[in-house]
Amino acid sequence: MKAAILVETNKPLEIHNIELESLKEGEVLIKMVAAGVCHSDHHAMVGHFPTRTPIILGHEGAGIIEEVGPNVKSLKKGDHVVSVWRYSCGECEPCMSGRPATCGEGARMRADGTLSDGTTRFKLKNEKVHHFLGVSTFSSHSIASEKSVMKIREDMPLEKAALVSCGVITGFGAVKNAAKVQPGESVAVFGTGGVGLNAIQGASIMGAEPIIAVDLLQNKLEFAKKFGATHTINSSDENAEERILEITNGLGVHYAFEMIGVPQVMSTAFNSLRTGGTVVVSGLAQFESEVSIPSVPLVLQEKKLMGSLYGSTNPRLEVPRLIDLYLAGKLNLDDLLTRSYPIEEINDAYDALIKGEVARSIIKHD
Ligand SMILES: [Zn+2]
Ligand SMILES: [Zn+2]
Repeated sequence: MKAAILVETNKPLEIHNIELESLKEGEVLIKMVAAGVCHSDHHAMVGHFPTRTPIILGHEGAGIIEEVGPNVKSLKKGDHVVSVWRYSCGECEPCMSGRPATCGEGARMRADGTLSDGTTRFKLKNEKVHHFLGVSTFSSHSIASEKSVMKIREDMPLEKAALVSCGVITGFGAVKNAAKVQPGESVAVFGTGGVGLNAIQGASIMGAEPIIAVDLLQNKLEFAKKFGATHTINSSDENAEERILEITNGLGVHYAFEMIGVPQVMSTAFNSLRTGGTVVVSGLAQFESEVSIPSVPLVLQEKKLMGSLYGSTNPRLEVPRLIDLYLAGKLNLDDLLTRSYPIEEINDAYDALIKGEVARSIIKHD
């Protein structure tokens, strides 16, 4: 039972052998096989999100059900599953109105670092260790509510499945479900990490043209071309707004996607829109930060600014579709998964992510 624990904000993760308490009603024990190395965990590590410590991070994951607790209905031992990092109760207004990712109970679990009954199942030397987003995938074994995992096809490689449940669905869904991009519409994607690359891939599948990728790091822009970017802008030495206007004959783009969570970039994305255009923000900025946009073009050009969480969809509908697309050869996950690390090297994995060396990497559990 080896886990990577954030003992204190702004300290490297520590690897420890943990103890697990027994399963309560509606819970499952998962043998994790792979966990995605995602920016959101890094936000928690460096304190951009207020996070209870000690905590086992990790929210993208895939594994195999090892045991089910009392009254578990949707899963059995041996099922292949992916994590669903936003618990949804199924009964509140957001859940019933088709926005399960915005469930209030899911938000409470994130803030408290607990499972849905408000308690924890992890222990290190008799001290309780918190859960991250109800899933904690940086552990060889994790306990979660059955509502925090979903069964997938057994012919889907678990290493790739781990990526679908966060980065892929978030980027792809922002394009398909939030923006609803149509063939021939123009798109700019700001930030070409795991989420941004999947927005580019989504835009390509929807038939967008042109698809403009913007990033500060040249190696990440090279990844973007593999996923369907028709133009790249290195904003460390080019003015993104001016270049986007040039590429679109002075009009700007129909849709701009902000995938990194930097308020200034959200403003640039807004200024890159054509009349009637929409900015979709999927990047989570530091809590308390604010975004500034010019108010007159908002009205005179009928521009829109919207947020998109977890692909603006129900993961239980979208994840199986994305997996089917991958297995049919129509979704590129092979170029996305660039590295795999043992859990002992998890801090190196995060250094590589911050340096932009990888499209997406995973932790491979023993
Ligand atoms: Zn993620
Ligand atoms: Zn709910």
